[in-house]
Amino acid sequence: MENCIFCKIVSGEIPSTKVYEDESVLAFKDLNPQAPIHILVIPKKHYNNVLDVKENDDIMSKIFYAINNIAKQEGFDKDGFRVINNCGENAGQTVMHMHFHIIAGKKLGEGIV
Ligand code: 5GP
Ligand code: ZN
Repeated sequence: MENCIFCKIVSGEIPSTKVYEDESVLAFKDLNPQAPIHILVIPKKHYNNVLDVKENDDIMSKIFYAINNIAKQEGFDKDGFRVINNCGENAGQTVMHMHFHIIAGKKLGEGIV
């Protein structure tokens, strides 16, 4: 997808601090971290957001299996973490390439679910 910053991160055109990579999924550190650990997990293929995911597409299981691996690899599986997805305008989605925030490394507030 042209002019998509996360597609450019996948292609290497824009640098990122990679945390995890497999055939379908890439994870890298958020540029503006909201917690001691703030990782973005994205499909390598462009989806605008979850509204593009089809019934028999296995991308969501791949993303959550990647999250499982990242939690263990980075060592925050025991303490716990939060996964956040912003979809569309009211949620404040600013990058229109589907992504899941992993927030970890501190006690998180109980607000918003
Ligand atoms: P959203 O608000 O769309 O859910 O989250 C977009 C996230 O992408 C933000 O947390 C922002 O800091 C992060 N971000 C935006 N541009 C870049 C970039 O070029 N590199 C990295 N690593 N993160 C980015
Ligand atoms: Zn993209």
